[in-house]
Formats: sequence, C-alpha cells, structure tokens
Amino acid sequence: MRNLIIALVLLVLLPVGANASVSENVAPEGRKRVVVIDPGHGGPRPGKVMKDIAEEDYVLDVSKEVRRQLRTKMSNLDVYLTRSSDSAYHEKQAEDNKRRAEFANRKGADLYVSIHANAHEKTTVNGCEVWVLTLNERLMNQNQGQAARYADDGDFIDPKDIDRTSQGFMMAVARQLENEPFSRFFAQECCRNMSSYGLKNLGVKAGPVFTVLYYFEGPGVIVELGYLTNSDDYAYLSKKGSKTEMATAISDAIVSYFKALDGNVEEAPNEEPAAEEEETMEPESLTEGYTIQLLSSTVEVDKNDYQFKSYKGRVALYMGTGRYKYKYCYGSYATREAAAEELARVRETFKDAYVVRFKDGNIVTK
Ligand SMILES: [Zn+2]
Repeated sequence: MRNLIIALVLLVLLPVGANASVSENVAPEGRKRVVVIDPGHGGPRPGKVMKDIAEEDYVLDVSKEVRRQLRTKMSNLDVYLTRSSDSAYHEKQAEDNKRRAEFANRKGADLYVSIHANAHEKTTVNGCEVWVLTLNERLMNQNQGQAARYADDGDFIDPKDIDRTSQGFMMAVARQLENEPFSRFFAQECCRNMSSYGLKNLGVKAGPVFTVLYYFEGPGVIVELGYLTNSDDYAYLSKKGSKTEMATAISDAIVSYFKALDGNVEEAPNEEPAAEEEETMEPESLTEGYTIQLLSSTVEVDKNDYQFKSYKGRVALYMGTGRYKYKYCYGSYATREAAAEELARVRETFKDAYVVRFKDGNIVTK
C-alpha cells in the first residue's frame, strides 16, 4: 500500500505544467460545460471584515458578476453559485466547506472556483494568489504547522488526521493526480488576469489540504483576490469598479480554460442574458438546522391537506414531544437568521408560524 502511495505521489510530479494534457479533457458531444462558483463564507461566518468591507459580501458580489459575465461570454456553459444570499450550508465550518464541494459534485462541475479575499497578521503582505490542492506528502508535511494553526476553523484538514492507507484517501490521491494540471492551468490564467489590474502576482500555491477542494472530484481552485489587511490591496479592493474588474479577470480565465479544453467555445448571442434565476442552497439536504413550524397536530396529516394552504405539498413532517407531536414545517436553513428572513413571508399565510430547530427528523429544543 505504502509503495503504491509513493508511486502515485511520484506520478503527480511528472505532469505538472504540461498544459498539453489539458486538451485531453473534452466535453462529451452536445453537453454543456459546467462551472460552479463558490462565494466563500456567508451565514454565521463573515470571513475577514476590514473597515467597511466584509469578505462574505464582497466575494458574493464578485461571484454574481462572474456569473453575469459568463452568460454574455459563453453560451455552452452552465454557471451555478453555491450560495446567492448571506447563508451557509452548516453551522460547522468543516461541514459547510464539505457540502459546498458536494454541491459542485452533484452539479457535475468541470471546474470549481471558490472565491475569497485574504488576510494576514503582517500588514505588509499583499497580492493575489490562487491555491490548488496537493496531496504530495512533502508539501502536506511542510504545511502541517499552518494547518494546525487553522485546524479549528475547518478550512483545512490536518494531514495528521488523514488515514493515508484508507481507500478514501487513495481515491482522493488518484483524483488529485489527474486534476492538478488542469487546476494549475486555470490558476495561472487567473493570477495573470487579476494582476493585470495592478495587484502583485503571488502566483499559484499548494500545500494545505483545503476541505473545500479535498471533497470536490474535479479540477478546482481557491482564488484569493488580495489582502484586506494590506493598505494597497485594500485601497484597490474598495475602489469603485474593482469588483467588476476581479470578476472580469476570473470569467476571462474560465473562458480561456474551456477554450484550451475544447478548442473553441460558443460565444453567447449578442443580447442581454436571461434574468438571474437564483440557485438555491438545496436546503432539503440539511440534516439539522432551522425550519418554520406552520402547524402541529395530534394525528398524522397528509402533506397535501387543504389546511396547508399555499404550502400544500411543500411541508415537511418533524416529530416533537407532547400531545401535538406531529410538527408540520416549511423550509430548512443552516442558520436561525436565514429562517427568520423567510418567516416574515410565511406569516402572511400562517400568522402564528415560528422558527424551530430540527435534527435528524426531530424538533429539538436546544
Ligand atoms: Zn476567506
């Protein structure tokens, strides 16, 4: 087993930088390419907040602009965002990151781009950079200290916690070997484009085992737009128009990437793209979180019953305690805030509705 790992790790060293291999990954005839954009943070985690810039809002604006631009640049491409509001998939950061990657897997993403802004305790550190996943033993070990430093926040998996002999890890290594040249190709394009707006190009980096990349099964990167903690980068990022420029840098890199893969891309017809259809968080995938209780009953009721009014067929049943133990609820949200936002609308129909917490099919009081 050990030898196989070493052989696989050696293999990864060979194709890096060999961009010719990019052309081998061709979209099946007639299928649209798929890109998933992940605006980092959201919900309970704002990311870095510097003066009037909160990372979660900044990267969401950039991500939406990337989507808008891509719809004008490429017609044979589907673009999805992991979130389109101030929300998260899970209260725990590690689980949240994992679910973002799983969302991209479900969408069959050919490319996954997680967008962040950077921060450093040394305010002199500045520039843009793009991270790719590596499972190279030496790089992982080298970054063990860094991973341990951030272990609490769930952005990284500590290499010490990975069972290197498990089948899951072997599969991850095999995928990473295949994907890294593609990820690097995109990362280079992206760095070059971003730095054309005056940010220092810190280049393509690899080392920490990022949760959000580890669980994604195709080529993926984390884009760091610049350091909010550095005065030059902050001045640029707070400048009017910088969000559009960053989005242009990223969307152009995405188009270049698919041009390299497919030889050409279909340009979008010269008209305004279709109205934004909001990508939802697929809240039904939550196993715990918050929901809105509409009614409770002593007996089980059909979900299509007339008493659910406009929510007929869209309610979920949770079990509670007491005589009225059948709790009929609408929606599921990772945070109480997100549920409260929807509650106002629900109260137009059910004026006594309120937010409750659920876990594994049950209403819980804590
Ligand atoms: Zn971030």
